[in-house]
Amino acid sequence: MTFSAPVAEIAFTLKHAAGFADALAQGAYGDLTEDDVEAVLAEAGRFAAEVIAPLNVVGDRHGAVFQDGAVIMPPGWKEAYTQWAAAGWNGLAAAPAWGGQGLPHAVNAACIEMWNAASMAFGVGPVLTMGAIEAMAAHASEELKRTYLPHLVSGRWMATMQLTEPQAGSDVGALRTRAERAGDGTYRITGSKIFITYGEHELTDNIIHFVLARLPDAPPGTRGISLFLVPKFLLGADGAPATRNDVRCHAIEHKLGIHASPTCTMVYGDRGGAVGWLVGEENRGLACMFTMMNNARLAVGLQGVGIAERATQQALAYARERRQGRATGADGNGPSPIIAHPDVRRMLLTMRALTRAARALCYATAVAIDMAHRAADAGARERAQERAALLTPVAKAFSTDIGTEVASLGVQVHGGMGFIEETGAAQHYRDARIAQIYEGTNGIQAIDLVARKLPLSGGATVRAYIDELRQTAAAVGRSNAAGFGRTAARLAEAVESLARATEWLLGTIGRSPDSALAGATPYLRLFGTAAGGCALASEALAAIRLGDGRAQPAERVALARFFAENIAVQAGGLEAAVVEGADSLAAEALPA
Ligand SMILES: Cc1cc2nc3c(=O)[nH]c(=O)nc-3n(C[C@H](O)[C@H](O)[C@H](O)COP(=O)(O)OP(=O)(O)OC[C@H]3O[C@@H](n4cnc5c(N)ncnc54)[C@H](O)[C@@H]3O)c2cc1C
Repeated sequence: MTFSAPVAEIAFTLKHAAGFADALAQGAYGDLTEDDVEAVLAEAGRFAAEVIAPLNVVGDRHGAVFQDGAVIMPPGWKEAYTQWAAAGWNGLAAAPAWGGQGLPHAVNAACIEMWNAASMAFGVGPVLTMGAIEAMAAHASEELKRTYLPHLVSGRWMATMQLTEPQAGSDVGALRTRAERAGDGTYRITGSKIFITYGEHELTDNIIHFVLARLPDAPPGTRGISLFLVPKFLLGADGAPATRNDVRCHAIEHKLGIHASPTCTMVYGDRGGAVGWLVGEENRGLACMFTMMNNARLAVGLQGVGIAERATQQALAYARERRQGRATGADGNGPSPIIAHPDVRRMLLTMRALTRAARALCYATAVAIDMAHRAADAGARERAQERAALLTPVAKAFSTDIGTEVASLGVQVHGGMGFIEETGAAQHYRDARIAQIYEGTNGIQAIDLVARKLPLSGGATVRAYIDELRQTAAAVGRSNAAGFGRTAARLAEAVESLARATEWLLGTIGRSPDSALAGATPYLRLFGTAAGGCALASEALAAIRLGDGRAQPAERVALARFFAENIAVQAGGLEAAVVEGADSLAAEALPA
């Protein structure tokens, strides 16, 4: 099944549901124009569809193969990666000082969606390199930046992010990998890491590992973690990879999905310790890693959007072709295309509505990240920073939850053929599943949202956001557009459910943390549901305002209505689960 990048849709969401057009109008992006952005998106869409998408099935069937300590990538992958990096895609949002193009994160976010829609196993590697570039730019010494950043930005070298150890998954503070001061400003790293994405491969001639480790005199827990840059090859005097460092890949995992993305066990210190350089300060590594992880969390959310988009395209095409049964009122004889049956339409509309809602949430997060750096005054930058912090866990978890749900519906639309690998629907479902787990499980994202993000500025950040959602629901109410049905009322109810659940959590989290955390996952879903419904309504209103048929106002109004009347109505149930669910989690139903 071919993939066609929905470039016009992406540009519309970016501009009209994510705040990009406002940011552009305020001058936050300098002399960048809408035409520039559209040209970049169109070229990315072409590259994703023509060069990356054909790798997806071969990547799944062939997988990455571990052989004599090396990882052999599937046929065609190295050539495609080289071409992708040479075209400058890796450094799209990186600073020009390091060879990047300095384009908005929001534009890069749209491209990340397309790379991952084309092939998630391909897209996940660069996501980590981009995160590493951010972390280095913010925290590394000038010398490290000069030595490594130009090569990471160009994509000549890729990066890894190494937190996980067998006993330290969600609980990063439990990690044991050690770092000893070597006395010459470098460190020696010993220990092992598991589940390291692209820890070993042949796509680039060096791999720069970013490794969390503990110094001998470090305090316990997360306060005693430092971040180290550990290259696979130490550099020679000319700056080129020269000597193999004391780090190796011991094995790769056999996985449910993303088979072409090597998931590596890494071993440090067979020969006395890998040479590493400190990034940031000793014992402050987690803060540096968070720079990398926040970026990566949004990117993983975009993986959810990408896979949902691809699954939706495929299901729609199948539903137009496949004929079964006669739809009520169908013309002529013979079976109807299954898209004519109400239950199939329900599945397809759910897929489309959830995908577009998640896309809008992810792009809004990216625009907030841009504004945190680019807004004219300090107050606006700080508000944008908090907006980005609030939305990041929602963008990650809501989008990846719906990624799996949409891919699952995609299998369902295909009937029995969906379960057969040949159609490709099954691969999307298998690939989508990991995004709910890595970069902090979705359960951990929900905890982050409730425990750390709601209390930002004493609750003012989340309340301001909810007020904006209220205004959207009210604007739908004022619109005379035909076709909105009960959209305004259903959205207003969803937003008030979110507002009540938010106030309950703000009042409960300090007093009874367990009660609040028991409702964290339904709360995150409630948040995504209310915000996603309002985003689709905003798009519909924008299309009406534009008065341009190409903006598809009737279709957008219909989709916003579908979301409001079929999905946003779940908000009341989610609110009840948040505020009343804690007691029912008591242990009796789960005997020890
Ligand atoms: C394919 C793949 C690629 C990966 N890539 C990388 C990588 O490049 N770098 C890297 O460092 N790691 C990577 N990981 C590791 C990944 O980030 C972890 O698997 C993930 O963070 C979860 O940790 P865990 O597997 O130990 O699960 P656990 O932490 O054991 O969690 C198990 C379950 O318990 C829940 N849980 C745990 N603690 C809590 C808590 N305090 N409160 C509530 N619920 C909790 C979790 O939400 C989850 O549902 C990768 C994993 C996979 C499978």
